[in-house]
Amino acid sequence: MRLSTLFTKTSKEAPKDELSVNARLLMQAGFVDKLTAGVYTFLPLGLRVLKKIENIIREEMNKVGGQEILMPALTPKSIWETTGRWATFDALFRLVGSDSREYALGATHEEVVVPLAGKYVFSYKDLPLYIYQIQNKFRNEKRAKSGILRGREFIMKDLYSFHTDEDNLDEYYKAMQKVYFKIYERCGLLDKTYLTFASGGSFSKYSHEFQTITPAGEDEIYICESCQIAVNREILADLENKCPNCGSKKLKQEKAIEVGNIFKLGTKYSEPFNLQFVDEGGKKKPVVMGCFGIGLSRVLGTVAEVCHDERGLIWPKEIAPFAVHLVTVNSKDVAANNKIKLASEKIYKDLQASGIEVLFDDREGETSTGEKFADADLIGCPLRLVVSERTLEQDCVEVKKRGEEEKELVKLNQVTKCK
Ligand code: ATP
Ligand code: MG
Repeated sequence: MRLSTLFTKTSKEAPKDELSVNARLLMQAGFVDKLTAGVYTFLPLGLRVLKKIENIIREEMNKVGGQEILMPALTPKSIWETTGRWATFDALFRLVGSDSREYALGATHEEVVVPLAGKYVFSYKDLPLYIYQIQNKFRNEKRAKSGILRGREFIMKDLYSFHTDEDNLDEYYKAMQKVYFKIYERCGLLDKTYLTFASGGSFSKYSHEFQTITPAGEDEIYICESCQIAVNREILADLENKCPNCGSKKLKQEKAIEVGNIFKLGTKYSEPFNLQFVDEGGKKKPVVMGCFGIGLSRVLGTVAEVCHDERGLIWPKEIAPFAVHLVTVNSKDVAANNKIKLASEKIYKDLQASGIEVLFDDREGETSTGEKFADADLIGCPLRLVVSERTLEQDCVEVKKRGEEEKELVKLNQVTKCK
């Protein structure tokens, strides 16, 4: 991608009316645009990151047997009445259709997926089953001040698991905890993300959240110093200030953002929809369920909160919009400038030919070298390559990692080996 033709441009300053770090950086660098509070457009750079997160999650879900579907976002009132949530789900966006019937925009999809499963699940032979989607969700959030961390429209992966019994659910639930950590690892959040005990709702005593430590976090968690498992403040009182895992009382308080949440639903939703299966003995039983959510847009925003410095974003490798930010330092000397252009065009082609994604700052004219470097820092690709008269004198490009000061010269014929 050439910066000279990229749809967006960076801004000199962060948007004045944004308080959150993620929105300030992501908007200034041209990753997202705010339409209204809690509602954002993903721009080319932001969409690239989002798609990478999406693909990581898709890969990991498929590995544990997930089958992807796409459910509608527009849902009829009747299904929400079946579970009683039309009356109790405050954050539901409700609307009236031209048929004068009421609808809700999907905030979560138990009410859609459970009757759907009922069309295909009959016997124990049909279980277990893992169905997921990656889709825009709508919630009429009261506090939409945290940039893309708390959207009114946001993107979620929600997987619903269907089991014959609790033991089978427990097994999957444990496996999913590992898978979730794999996802956070690939997104560059592993060392700040903690498995956190949270209130469980009707079926199990606890649910589990994945909480990433950041001052921008809206939650308070207490991390056990001996086993590194955390507890959400909301449930801590019930536990007499002890770690629910090892009983230790040495807990460290941190602010954190919930980047994922997994629940054992039991038969909470299968019962109202009468989702049953016939067991090996020919007896009808309600299906036991689990539910596993991750906010993709929130993960992206969390990475922006956690991985940045005063100059801009610092993307973890696997989700960076581009691996390399290639910068030309233009010369006033026409011959020298042509040489720089030729060399950098070749580097651009060679890198792409070897499968390396490059953002090429090929801008000329008004844009100063200082501005180019500032943009490279703001956008935050992991590697910056600079081609100038000076580097070409030595048949080299200058290579620098984002977030580090050290620079090195790499021979032009070695450029595709830069990492
Ligand atoms: P929170 O406690 O932050 O309001 P929640 O517990 O209501 O979230 P879930 O219903 O468990 O969230 O949704 C699953 C995941 O979706 C959350 O762990 C989070 O990563 C993401 N998520 C939830 N609400 C939002 C939102 N408004 N904007 C962005 N992501 C969200
Ligand atoms: Mg939650």
